[in-house]
Amino acid sequence: MKRLFASVLLASLCFVMTAYSEPLACLDKSPCPPGTKPPFCCDKPPCEFREQIRLKQAMRNVFSNKKVRAKFKKQAKGDNPMAAAKLFEYVKQQAKGLGNTIKCKWDFNKFPPSFEVVDCHIVAKLETGDREMTKEEALNKIETCTEFIEAAYKHEEFHKEGCDPEKKAKQGIEEYANEEIEGYTKEIDYLKAQRQLWWQACSVDQRNRQKKEKKEQAKQNSAKKGLDSLKKNAKKSNSQKPKIGK
Ligand SMILES: [Zn+2]
Repeated sequence: MKRLFASVLLASLCFVMTAYSEPLACLDKSPCPPGTKPPFCCDKPPCEFREQIRLKQAMRNVFSNKKVRAKFKKQAKGDNPMAAAKLFEYVKQQAKGLGNTIKCKWDFNKFPPSFEVVDCHIVAKLETGDREMTKEEALNKIETCTEFIEAAYKHEEFHKEGCDPEKKAKQGIEEYANEEIEGYTKEIDYLKAQRQLWWQACSVDQRNRQKKEKKEQAKQNSAKKGLDSLKKNAKKSNSQKPKIGK
């Protein structure tokens, strides 16, 4: 049996590739227009963005589970390819379960397909079958958040970097799980970094506004001070005025 490597399949979800030409970023990272204030000028990250991070973290947790690894090592009598194959089957089941926990609507864009590295090539798992695909092609042809495609390719490119089919076939469970953990970490880190960029873009205007307000306040304060001291001086000089007449 040929063991599949790489990112695993939320198999309960179907994916159809449609004729699609406009890559769509799901986070609006453009700063607020002048005169507008966050958070109202910034679209919040869609539910789907948070969900994608949650799912990827859950997948990483499955690979990180030491008890599960120990169980399969025991069953396979060692840290060997059979143990790794057992983990792969287990992960597939877990991924199906995760597919049932999806809460967002996924109506403005589609759930991204799974990708994997087969014979050192990145392959998209589409409903119409597996298809070798460059990142550029995926960005242009798959109707999902561009951030998800970029993140998925960070994961798969990591597998591709050290790709050696012969070595892969001999890979034990520990190495297999650790490679996946690293792949998912790259993917999650990318998604979180994008969310951070959104936050920065969204709050930059707010920071400027606060700075401006502080400056304005300081100006008013010093103007008031100046006025006060002027008044004081005026009072003083009045009181010092020689009293004429009387
Ligand atoms: Zn992977």
